[in-house]
Amino acid sequence: MINRSILYKYVCLISSLLTFYFLFSCTHDLANSYQISTNNISSPLSVLKNPLQKEAKSTSQKDSTRHLKLLFTGDIMGHTPQIRAAEIKKNKSYDYKPSFEYIAPIIRAADIAIGNLEVTLPGRPPYTGYPTFKSPDDLAVDLKWAGFDVLVTANNHSNDSGKKGVLHTIETLKNLGFQQTGTFKNKAERDLFYPLILNKNGIKIALLNYTYGTNDIPTTPPTIVNTINWYTIKKDLQKAKKRNPDCIIVMVHWGDEYQLIENKEQRKLADWLANQGVHVVVGAHPHVVQPIIEKEVKTEENKQVHQSLIAYSLGNFVSNQDKKNTDGGILLEIDIAKNIQQDSTYINDAHFIPVWRYIQKTNQNDIYRILPVAAVEHSKRPFIKLPTEDKMEMLDFLRVTRARLKHNGAKERRITTKDIITSTKMAQK
Ligand SMILES: [Zn+2]
Repeated sequence: MINRSILYKYVCLISSLLTFYFLFSCTHDLANSYQISTNNISSPLSVLKNPLQKEAKSTSQKDSTRHLKLLFTGDIMGHTPQIRAAEIKKNKSYDYKPSFEYIAPIIRAADIAIGNLEVTLPGRPPYTGYPTFKSPDDLAVDLKWAGFDVLVTANNHSNDSGKKGVLHTIETLKNLGFQQTGTFKNKAERDLFYPLILNKNGIKIALLNYTYGTNDIPTTPPTIVNTINWYTIKKDLQKAKKRNPDCIIVMVHWGDEYQLIENKEQRKLADWLANQGVHVVVGAHPHVVQPIIEKEVKTEENKQVHQSLIAYSLGNFVSNQDKKNTDGGILLEIDIAKNIQQDSTYINDAHFIPVWRYIQKTNQNDIYRILPVAAVEHSKRPFIKLPTEDKMEMLDFLRVTRARLKHNGAKERRITTKDIITSTKMAQK
């Protein structure tokens, strides 16, 4: 038989724990509802400053929250040495898988992985690098294998293979099962499929894409390459809002090449986009990593407050560039959360993941490899062993990139060897 005084002590202890739990969850529920009530419900994207708030939600709230993990990569380039390196049989078959092998587990783990394809796919040789980028279709096949879901194609190289190239690129990507936007076969298709709407995990995204120009290569009708025109963008955003997305994302090809800080025009356009209700702006083209900032803005339309995240440039995802700071880039990971009970959506978390391009020398072709740098940095048993000189270059890239991004408070997700190995096993199942 249990001693009465011990039983009494237990009852007291349990009731105080329950009281404490009740008060604690109420406080946080109030904090959450305050957070939500200050934001725009029709265009509701806020950033939870304190991640603990998320943990303190009651079970019912947890159940009513949906998450969507977005991942963006930098410029996917196709310089001549990369084409030569991937070549298996002259002008016939190409294998890019080794380039993506070590980064694929990270890309596949995202709900939606999005990249800027800065080459055209003409469908037949000659395949060339700078200044007119024409890559074999096998590149797209292996990007699909690596885990990409969406490729945006409005950039200064969109017209490098002329009208046929624009058409074949769109056709090939669609046949491979990608979602694609930024360039269009004709006006009817743009009217029908733009902005691109992505629906996953009960969260609806509107994705838009524009470029500053096409290197003076004119766009041949009826094809369309989206160029930056504020009037057109405004109309496109209005069209996007009519579809009631939870989150609006604009990917812009802009800025000055090799500049580590965004220029005035980028800042002006980003601010304007945020004022128009855009939640996430992701930039490309400078080939180096530029700052990521988060800001609270009032929409022009209804003066309601929302959070915007602006990543001015993610640098290179893969390329043969060797100018300082062009040998790597970052992946941007954003966790979008939606409370379906309150119909409010917010950026729950955002991280960058540094990647570095390693050119592995072999007796035959060079191998271009994208490495999640943190997994090689300190690992005692790294999945790949780099020659000292390459390792020094990689660490140099990492040091300056981290410093630039952390200056504005951006957070890094440090990939470990385990992440890659575990995910690779999962992907193989
Ligand atoms: Zn570019």
